[in-house]
Amino acid sequence: MTLDAVLARIDDTLPDACDRLLDLLRIASISTDPAFEGDCARAAAWLVQELKSLGFTASARPTPGHPMVVARHAGPGRHILFYGHYDVQPVDPIELWDRDPFDPALEETSKGVVIRGRGAADDKGQLMTFLEACRAWKEVHGTLPGNLTIFFEGEEESGSPSLIPFMKDNAEELGEASLALICDTGLFADKVPAVVTMLRGLAKIEFTLKAADKDLHSGMFGGAAINPIRVLTRILGQLHDDQGRVTVPGFYDDVADLPEAVRAQWQGLGFDHASFLGGVGLTTPAGEIDRTPLEQIWSRPTAEINGIWGGYTGAGFKTVLPAEASAKVSFRLVSNQDPEKILASFKSWIEAQLPPDVTLDWKAPNGSPASVMEISDPAFEAARAALTEEWNCPAAFVGCGGSIPIAGYFKDILGMDAMLIGFGKDDDQIHSPNEKYDLESFHKGIRSWARILDRIVG
Ligand SMILES: [Zn+2]
Repeated sequence: MTLDAVLARIDDTLPDACDRLLDLLRIASISTDPAFEGDCARAAAWLVQELKSLGFTASARPTPGHPMVVARHAGPGRHILFYGHYDVQPVDPIELWDRDPFDPALEETSKGVVIRGRGAADDKGQLMTFLEACRAWKEVHGTLPGNLTIFFEGEEESGSPSLIPFMKDNAEELGEASLALICDTGLFADKVPAVVTMLRGLAKIEFTLKAADKDLHSGMFGGAAINPIRVLTRILGQLHDDQGRVTVPGFYDDVADLPEAVRAQWQGLGFDHASFLGGVGLTTPAGEIDRTPLEQIWSRPTAEINGIWGGYTGAGFKTVLPAEASAKVSFRLVSNQDPEKILASFKSWIEAQLPPDVTLDWKAPNGSPASVMEISDPAFEAARAALTEEWNCPAAFVGCGGSIPIAGYFKDILGMDAMLIGFGKDDDQIHSPNEKYDLESFHKGIRSWARILDRIVG
């Protein structure tokens, strides 16, 4: 079997793969600090060289910021795009590092061998898992796997300012692929692989309720004048019902039910609900009472009051009847919920509850919808089966409570779904001192891609 030969090749050449990763990690490609502009360019050039040596056509494309690396190998089968980022976070506070962040090394630890250095896990180690899988494949098969585009960004850690314009300008070229693979996420748990297939969206708003034209003395006006804090807290106090559901009309209209098969996979993950909340000093789930915490954070929409202020909050006491009261409220969105529609119905819901003399000042609403991948695409099941084989543990399609904007860009600009598969671990200390990537993550990550490629393009 050629897959076995590819896997054996990966095992045999792992030390060389580590050396190549260490080379890349030595380049201080900190994207946010202009002092490292040359290093970012060097990292891009290093990758172009590497991709060319593998047989790709590759170039570093200039942008107003750091270059994009785009590489192409035309071959038979489905056209797949692989995304990663070569830039890294700054290293401060440097004194907390046990070694020079850009003098990486393999270290023996009580939990196994780790690759230590800035960018080891986020994202250089992860992007190299894919290149090394391509390398072993080529060495065994004599050619690269299938029909591939590689797309590396150098500004992910600094807000990706050039990404959307670049994707738009190159939509025809990049959009030739029909599926994106993104390697910038983690395992679900130690040794439990996962494919992220749903990412929640976000809508947010700050608003102010205004009443009297100035703050009033509560001795002179209290009882007769309306207090906007009272109005604000009454309204926001009814944002959820006693089942934990959001009461804004139409809020759940575009929320799809979780497919039964996905629910079953999530149950199989053995997520420890008690320690999830226990880890932050809580005991009791506070969301919708008929959903598990995992369902709540991955597949259900939320409304949260993020901040609320008004009146006198300084030292001592001031018996004021404030003229205004403000709040910041945000919604995590799922399925087809439209951020604009959600905020508009939230606004109408507030307005309908305002007593006479209270007005609403609505400030800069904004948001982005959820990303939900089309898991009926056979590549998803193929990837899940490949990961299950490699890790010897059932892989699952999982959600992500936060947002990973890149997945939405692939959908909106290039019209393709993304499979987010990564091998990071919770203790990798990405963005922090002493970042590491487990050698096991690197090794099994390479093997995982070989198995996935074998199933989807092989
Ligand atoms: Zn990253």
